[in-house]
Amino acid sequence: MALIEMLQQNLAQRHAANLYRQRQVLDSPQGVVVEVDGRRYVNFSSNDYLGLANHPEVVRAFRAGAAQWGVGSGAAHLVTGHQAPHHALEEELAEFTGRSRALLFSTGYMANLGVVSALLGRGDTVYEDRLNHASLVDAGLLSRARLRRYRHTDATQLHEQLAQVCGGNKLIVTDGVFSMDGDLAPLPKLAHLALQHGAWLMVDDAHGLGVLDKMGRGSLAHYQLNSTQVPVLMGTLGKAFGTFGAFVAGSEELIETLIQQARSYIYTTALPPAVAEATRTSLRLVQAESWRREKLLSLVTRFRTGAAQLGHNLPVSETPIQPLLLGDAANALQVSQRLREAGILISAIRPPTVPEGSARLRITFCAEHTEEQVDGLLDALATCRVSP
Ligand SMILES: *Cc1c(COP(=O)(O)O)cnc(C)c1O
Repeated sequence: MALIEMLQQNLAQRHAANLYRQRQVLDSPQGVVVEVDGRRYVNFSSNDYLGLANHPEVVRAFRAGAAQWGVGSGAAHLVTGHQAPHHALEEELAEFTGRSRALLFSTGYMANLGVVSALLGRGDTVYEDRLNHASLVDAGLLSRARLRRYRHTDATQLHEQLAQVCGGNKLIVTDGVFSMDGDLAPLPKLAHLALQHGAWLMVDDAHGLGVLDKMGRGSLAHYQLNSTQVPVLMGTLGKAFGTFGAFVAGSEELIETLIQQARSYIYTTALPPAVAEATRTSLRLVQAESWRREKLLSLVTRFRTGAAQLGHNLPVSETPIQPLLLGDAANALQVSQRLREAGILISAIRPPTVPEGSARLRITFCAEHTEEQVDGLLDALATCRVSP
């Protein structure tokens, strides 16, 4: 079969199964109101939880960074791409997370691939929550370690898996806050199991950093876990921080090992220094402006209370990620479309991003949303007759 024919068939099948994915073009900056096809929508589908992606101070730092440092870093970190802004940001991230060192990566996806494959190889085992982010699953596969997946947040099953003798090193890897569900990993239990079984624990806190804890230090601070209990912390900068990139924080030895061995760190261009400068400003805002987290929490509470009155039984989530489960992909698409007609943008999340039969609207809140916008969403859910 010719390539093009095979592709046509695959695409047609995807269409028929309501799994075809399409991008929409935003004609505005990221924000709580965005413009698509000449129409404005209230946006409940971004990860810019604190509203920093288009914050004037962050934009100003980015501009000043470009004026001073140019645009491209011009090389990988180990060649000549590691500039003073990258280095300063790493030091500030280490301090923020209370760890000896931090290492910048170009994306979170690359950070995860780099860490897991630097720490594990053939003969080792990686243990992963079933609902871990795709990049963590891919990281496990790339490392060539044995991959064991345990039921979502099920420490009992993890315990059974860890108890099976299999030799080699063991790494438990989990999202801190699950990206499509908004719930927290049972980190104290996982830390306890790690200690008990001589395993290492790695937390990907893409959705916890900036959001959880009074200072925004994420799920480890929320549970008061230290760097002995969780030696590997990964965070992303494109979500609550509103910029781009990612980092790993940990001991001197961990970071030096990654510099030597993490291929997705070594063989790629350093991110633009102006992005690092912008992130330094957003890191300062994340810590200083705790009102953003308080506001988020009050919006989430308002939404959950209203949704319960409409008869929606939302899964437990204390974070700005509030999934509305709708079952099959066709239903999720239809509801997303009806909300869109009402001026609300929430994309339908379908398999394979989420398990079969759990298609959903992944509703996310931002500190810049108003109470009126949340009430508008509740009204739309009621008038669009989204069945609970
Ligand atoms: C978004 C995300 C990533 C990937 O980060 P990028 O910087 O967007 O590549 C990794 N892990 C989790 C849990 C995420 O939500």
